[in-house]
Amino acid sequence: MRADKRDYAADYEVAFFDYLDGGDEEIALQRAYELGRRAIAGEQSILGLISLHSRLLQELTSHSTTAAPRGQTHVRSEAFLTQVMALFEMTHRQTLEMNQSLRDSERRKTAILGSAFDSIIAFDATGRILDFNPASEQMFGHTRSQVIGHDLADLILPITLREAFRQMLGFYQEDGEGSTIGQREEIIACRADASEFPAEMAIAFIDVDEAPFFTAYVRDLTERKAYEAKIEYLATHDALTHLANRNLLKDRIEQAIAQGMRFQDQALAVLCVGIERFKFINDSMGHLFGDALIKDIASRLQQSVRDGDTVARQSGDEFVIVMAGLKEGVQDALRGASEILAIFMQPFAVDGHSIHLTCSIGTSLYPDDGKDVEKLLANADTAMHRAKAAGGGTIQFYTRDLSIFAAERVKLENALWGGLEKGEFSLYYQPQVRVADGVIVGAEALIRWQHPELGMIYPARFITLAEETGLIGPIGEWVLATANAQNHSWQHDGLPALRMAVNVSPRQFRHDGILNALESLLATSTLTPGSLEIEVTESSLMEDIDESIRILNRLRTLGASISLDDFGTGYSSLAYLRRLPVDRLKIDQSFVHEMESDAQARTMVKEIIHLSQAFGLSIIAEGVETTGELAFLADNGCDEYQGYLFARPLPASEFERLLRKSCLR
Ligand code: C2E
Ligand code: MG
Ligand code: MG
Repeated sequence: MRADKRDYAADYEVAFFDYLDGGDEEIALQRAYELGRRAIAGEQSILGLISLHSRLLQELTSHSTTAAPRGQTHVRSEAFLTQVMALFEMTHRQTLEMNQSLRDSERRKTAILGSAFDSIIAFDATGRILDFNPASEQMFGHTRSQVIGHDLADLILPITLREAFRQMLGFYQEDGEGSTIGQREEIIACRADASEFPAEMAIAFIDVDEAPFFTAYVRDLTERKAYEAKIEYLATHDALTHLANRNLLKDRIEQAIAQGMRFQDQALAVLCVGIERFKFINDSMGHLFGDALIKDIASRLQQSVRDGDTVARQSGDEFVIVMAGLKEGVQDALRGASEILAIFMQPFAVDGHSIHLTCSIGTSLYPDDGKDVEKLLANADTAMHRAKAAGGGTIQFYTRDLSIFAAERVKLENALWGGLEKGEFSLYYQPQVRVADGVIVGAEALIRWQHPELGMIYPARFITLAEETGLIGPIGEWVLATANAQNHSWQHDGLPALRMAVNVSPRQFRHDGILNALESLLATSTLTPGSLEIEVTESSLMEDIDESIRILNRLRTLGASISLDDFGTGYSSLAYLRRLPVDRLKIDQSFVHEMESDAQARTMVKEIIHLSQAFGLSIIAEGVETTGELAFLADNGCDEYQGYLFARPLPASEFERLLRKSCLR
């Protein structure tokens, strides 16, 4: 607002003299009030008005002495002026008081600015800093004297934000009328040492006295952000295990569903994992113990899943795992669930106690078993309760119409876990016979699974499954220990010394598990030389030949001999064969079967026999069913054979009978 150029003092003077000359008193008084009002508004000097008034009084006095007395008029004029004088004096007093309060207010304002927690920076229309409060000095690491007159954006904003900031100032000035306070915005601000921090900034545009300026209010959000992140973490994670809690779990499932809708070929599985007997352990061993155990379980679960899968704690003893982006739906889910079952194979160690646990897993798949979070969770839970009811340690899918393969696999796999514990596995022994005199010199231990409902299950149906689920570890150890114990017991009973051959699967072979198992076997029993042979297939050795050589050498120093099973079907070159520390080649039965009908197979068998002789290795043929086959092998110098011709794989008691009979011959 601009000051009016009209001279109110002169107007008043004219009206006053007009009144003296008999004019209207009202008008003169009005002019006097108008002057007083303007004085209070700060547009007139009060002192100037008081001096004007004294001058008028003097003039009145001289007027009354020089001019003819006007009687009543003079008296009225004096009364009028006294009245106006009082008015001016009162106005003056008020103005003084107001100035004092303004000064107080200014002091208070400075104090407020000085003690403000936020940074308050005043700057002009071009962005040059006019004022910089102590909080700003602290926040940005510049002193006030360093920054006055410098460009604000250059000092406190990262390069990427400066241009936008300047444009914004332009908008304010175009629209600005009076004062405008902008929205609070979150920005990244820069300190003097170039470090950045999150901040909140509001800009006020103040357009007064033709010298508009800006004020920036900046608040450091570092602590608030950290606090918010902590709150967010607490709201989305389980305090004990640091796994995702139900809230985050739901979010993750929602995200995965959205992803599933985008990529039609990808499925999503929700696995509900319930720990068996946990409540019992928790109650009997105490809650601290239970907590430690749960933490241990949580970290194993976390390690067993793929990157990107979510492990959440659903309740005390229930976890939920979300597997997203599955290419093969059921199979992938099954594989994941199997790995989870596998982590429970090893006992948990808490406070010096070794705790064996099992879990039940229920699985639901998107979109078949539910299209939203609640449905998927509810159905996985239902499936988990079915798994519990089936005796624990099993996997159940919510959908009943699984493909035949998956259903069969699930059924077998569920049974496989229980099989070992329930003693459903047994070993059959097939004699290995010397070609020259028909004497039994060895036995191959072959695993059988006698399932109460499914009947006898042969290894071809479950060894791969056992490999995939990791169960091959404990199964293999059991085979090794059982076959070895059986051999010991026969020898103890005075039966002839035998070489016991045990099959080791590719997956087992590539881990040190087999070495450890053999070592622990040695720790409890002595292995008489030549009493144990390990059968490995060529293909299992070829993946990492150096590692294979290391393991084979170690097996041999532990006292086992090595036989290359299914020889001829793999790709081992002569060069490799020369390097491999093996004792025996085992001609694959496919060549043996075809020998009589196929000249090529005959050539192959002959060559393998020659090869073994050249390398100084023993040779055995497997799958010998006819006397013709045996005759051919004998003619070509094969050392040993094994096959239905002599005997099928037999239960221990029958094998023993056969062995006793052959002793008597
Ligand atoms: P393999 O080691 O090559 O075992 C020879 C297979 O041929 C055995 O089958 C045996 O029963 C069968 N066989 C023996 N003589 C004859 C014959 O004259 N004619 C015919 N047609 N077959 C004969 P099985 O017991 O079903 O075992 C199959 C495979 O499963 C084994 O092949 C071996 O690789 C694996 N396996 C068996 N037991 C175990 C085990 O304890 N651990 C591991 N990892 N694998 C095992
Ligand atoms: Mg074998
Ligand atoms: Mg074989």
